[in-house]
Amino acid sequence: MKKLMAANWKMHKTTEEAFDTAEELVALCGAALPEDREVLVIPPFTALRRTGQALAGNPRFLLGGQNFYPEEQGAFTGEISPAMLLDVGCAFVLAGHSERRHVLGETDEMVGRKVAFGLERGLSVILCVGERIDERRAGQVEQVLRTQLDKGLAGVDRGVDPERLVVAYEPVWAIGTGEVAGPQEIVQAHAFVRQELVRAFGEAGREMRIQYGGSVKPDNAAEIIHLDNVDGVLVGGASLRADSFSRIVLAD
Ligand code: PEP
Repeated sequence: MKKLMAANWKMHKTTEEAFDTAEELVALCGAALPEDREVLVIPPFTALRRTGQALAGNPRFLLGGQNFYPEEQGAFTGEISPAMLLDVGCAFVLAGHSERRHVLGETDEMVGRKVAFGLERGLSVILCVGERIDERRAGQVEQVLRTQLDKGLAGVDRGVDPERLVVAYEPVWAIGTGEVAGPQEIVQAHAFVRQELVRAFGEAGREMRIQYGGSVKPDNAAEIIHLDNVDGVLVGGASLRADSFSRIVLAD
């Protein structure tokens, strides 16, 4: 199973800034990229095509979208479809990122529609799940993860190619805060996600990747990436600069 090292650039970078960062990233880690790793760059929509140009010719450098609307086309002002993401070269898309859930009000049901529709339309999907700090303090981590996974995966074909469905465990309190989850917290949450994936998909659930996200930095990446059931990372802040993200990608 290849570890998936993903850079979520959120609402950062113009087209040329994105191109330059992606080009530098390929230069810094292209030749050194271990066989068992893939790099996924997720820029804003406006920079997708240009970022794809910088990654072109490097099969283990993939392009992803941050969001989409679960319809083919139509009167959905401001939205973008899976076909449009595929058209500019995306292989992956995020669904249910905590900023979409908690800043933009996306429900578990909408996230579930997106996961199923994105997969059906040919994208690989990263379903993001994770608890808020009040939920952790109330001992509700597993309950929250179970609900988000049940609803997020409800419409997914049980025979889905396990390589195309990724879950990112991103505790909300660790995203963009500098507060990384401890190894024990990560191992426990990932073991629970694995158990739920096996419950839902049988043996194929063991082949689905589970990423950790939440204040991953060059100096904590090596420890995190070797924890049980950690099959990659999803990185926000520390992915914005190629020198910093390349150190995460190559962390060992
Ligand atoms: C994220 O955006 O998914 C994320 C984990 O952000 P950060 O690395 O900045 O915490």
